[in-house]
Amino acid sequence: MIEQTYQMLWDCPYCGTDKLLGLTHRHCPSCGSAQAEDKRYFPSDEDKVAVADHKFSGADKDCPACSSPMAAAAAHCGNCGSPMDGAAAVKLKSDAPAPDPQKAKGSGNGKLIGIGCVVLLGLGLVFLLVTMLWKKDVTLEATSRSWERSILIEAKQPTKEAKWCDNLPRDAYAVTRSSKQRDTKKIPDGETCTTKRKDNGDGTFNEYQDCKPKYREEPIYDEWCAYTADRWHEARTLNAAGDASSAPDWPTVTLAKTGECVGCEREGKRSDSYVVQFLDADGKTHDCDLVEARWAGIEIGSKWTSKASVIGGSLDCKGLERAP
Ligand SMILES: [Zn+2]
Ligand SMILES: [Zn+2]
Repeated sequence: MIEQTYQMLWDCPYCGTDKLLGLTHRHCPSCGSAQAEDKRYFPSDEDKVAVADHKFSGADKDCPACSSPMAAAAAHCGNCGSPMDGAAAVKLKSDAPAPDPQKAKGSGNGKLIGIGCVVLLGLGLVFLLVTMLWKKDVTLEATSRSWERSILIEAKQPTKEAKWCDNLPRDAYAVTRSSKQRDTKKIPDGETCTTKRKDNGDGTFNEYQDCKPKYREEPIYDEWCAYTADRWHEARTLNAAGDASSAPDWPTVTLAKTGECVGCEREGKRSDSYVVQFLDADGKTHDCDLVEARWAGIEIGSKWTSKASVIGGSLDCKGLERAP
């Protein structure tokens, strides 16, 4: 990468002469005052002055007595004559753009909104806890019992599916193949370059190209298979239900045909539920979904106690106890 060296510029703060050269004019040609390195700046493109065959011997050092910038090799200050022993290198100018004050203001507002959100969330959580934990004692009477049992029946049916052809299931038939994009690949496509500037600290700066590789995306195609296969699907549900007068029983299963044929049927998932309805002293009804053994032991007309939430009034069905 080719680097080009240019002069930094400085403006004389005493006589107002501007665009003085950082390397050539160590003193102001108009009034003779010494250059101060904190006055150095990067020139605009039309004010750039190139330095041919520049020998870089290190960033300038600040004179410990008068703060004038001196070449790194100098043993004494050219301005006041002080020895340069232990002098520190000058501060370098940054090429980065100044931060946008408008943006900083915006993020301050964002912080306030964030705090507001946290406060609201906290209040919501407190309300939820009160709803869940604030409970009162209730007395109950069991008024009715009901049960429900169901069995899902599945049937085998021709089913349309699609997959990448290298994953085609063995039982697939009526297969049609097509081309489809499966992935993308990154292909190197030259470089993106920006011009950057680096302060050398000796009254000059270097301009260089900062380049990063660029890529373009290209699709990768593969074979896509649409096909039919015979699959099990939920077809119907068999239900049985009753109240306290009947013992829970599973519905009678009748299958159209058994086996692996199209149209064959098989038993699927079973589910059951056992509900007792209670009446509280305020005349409000509560449903409790219980395990079968618990449900069977609660006679109609029996008295129970438990807790109910003050807000919403929902009954704690796990806390049911026979009333003394
Ligand atoms: Zn001057
Ligand atoms: Zn000095």
